[in-house]
Amino acid sequence: MQLERSDLAPDTLTVAAGRPPREHDAPVNPPIVLSTTYHETRAPEAGDRIYARGSNPTWDPFEEALGALEGADLPALVFGSGLGAAAAALSLVPTGGAVVMPRHAYAGSISLAADLAAQGRFELRTVDIADTPAVLAELDALAARFDAGQVMLWLESPTNPMLEVAELSVLTDAAHATGAVVVADNTFNTPIVHRPLESGVDVVLHSVTKWLAGHSDVVLGALITSDAALRDRLLAHRTLHGAIAGPFEVWLALRGLRTLALRMERSQGTAASLALRLADHPAVRRVRYPGLPTDPGHERAAAQFNGFGGIVSIELDDVATADALVAAVRLWLPATSLGGVESLVERRRRQPAEPVTVPEALVRLSVGIENPEDLWADLDSALRVAAGPRDGGL
Ligand SMILES: *Cc1c(COP(=O)(O)O)cnc(C)c1O
Repeated sequence: MQLERSDLAPDTLTVAAGRPPREHDAPVNPPIVLSTTYHETRAPEAGDRIYARGSNPTWDPFEEALGALEGADLPALVFGSGLGAAAAALSLVPTGGAVVMPRHAYAGSISLAADLAAQGRFELRTVDIADTPAVLAELDALAARFDAGQVMLWLESPTNPMLEVAELSVLTDAAHATGAVVVADNTFNTPIVHRPLESGVDVVLHSVTKWLAGHSDVVLGALITSDAALRDRLLAHRTLHGAIAGPFEVWLALRGLRTLALRMERSQGTAASLALRLADHPAVRRVRYPGLPTDPGHERAAAQFNGFGGIVSIELDDVATADALVAAVRLWLPATSLGGVESLVERRRRQPAEPVTVPEALVRLSVGIENPEDLWADLDSALRVAAGPRDGGL
C-alpha cells in the first residue's frame, strides 16, 4: 500500500518521502547509481532512461521528496546548481519578453538576468518587491506593451540579504491576470516555512546548496511545478543545456533533507532570540528579521509564513565596524553562503555583484544549529571588540 503523501505534514515528508518500495530485503535508503548509460533491449520509448544526462535513478527519490514537500503534483527537477535552475526558469521567457525582479533578489540571479538582458534576450525591470503598488504598476505598464505569456514575475521573499517580504498571493494573482508566469525563489524560507505553490506561484526555485542540503558540502539547485507543460520545458532545458547534478551530490542532498525540519526549527528559534538581543545591542544600528514585531515585513510574514527563517541581517555604524566584527568572531565562520549547520557571518557588500542599495555596513548572519548561548556569547563579544576603540585607545 502506498502512503497518501498529501495527508502527511512537511516534517514527516522530509523523512518519509523518496524511499525505495517496501519489498522484502530492499534497502530503506536509495542507492547511488553511477552509470552513464542504460541497457536498451528494444527501440527507445518515451520515459526510457537511455543516457545519464537525461535521467539518473539517484535523482528520482530526491525529486519525489522535494516535489511532495513543496506540495506539487509532480516531482521536482534537480539541477547542478541554483543558478543552473534559475537559467532554466528564465528560459521560459520568450525572446523579446520582459522579467520583473526584486532589486534585492539574490545577486547571482540579478547578474544572470542582467547578462541575458544585455544580450537582448529580454527586458529586465527591477522593483522594490515589498512595495506592492509599485510592483502592480510595473506589471500593468508591461501588460500594455507585451502580450500575455511574454512576461515573467520573479519573486524572492524574504529577499537576500535585505529580508524584505512580498505579498505573494496579491502579486501572483495580479501577474496571472496579465498572463505573466510567476517564479518564486524559496531558498530562504524552505517548504517548512512556506510553500509558494499554495500562493498560486507557477514555478518554485531552490538553491539546494543552502538549507535543503544543509551541510555546506554540495552545490545543487531545483525547480518545482505542478504544471506538466512547464515541467516538460524545464526538463528539456536541463537535458539540452546539460546543467545536471552528480549522483553523489543528490544522494547527499536527500540525506540532508531528512533533517531539514529539525534544523530549521533550531535555526529559526536561535535566529529569533539573537534578533531580539541584537535589537538591544548598543553596537547594532538596525536589525532586519521578519520575526521581530518591529520589522517592516513582520505582519506580512506572520500572515503568510509558518515561521521567520534562520537569516538575520544587522547594520553596524560603518564598514570598518562591520569588517571588525567579521574578523573578531571565533565560533561564527566568516564565509559567504547560508543554510548550513554551522553559523556564517558575512558583510555582503564585499561581493562586487551585490546591489549598491544594500547598505555597506550590513552583515548577514546565517544561523546554524550550535548552542544558542555559545552563538550569542561569540557575537556579543565580537560586537564589543568591533565597536570598541580601534586606534590604540584603551
Ligand atoms: C545561493 C542562492 C542562489 C544560487 O544558488 P547556487 O546553488 O549557489 O547556484 C539562488 N537564490 C538564493 C536566494 C540563494 O541564496
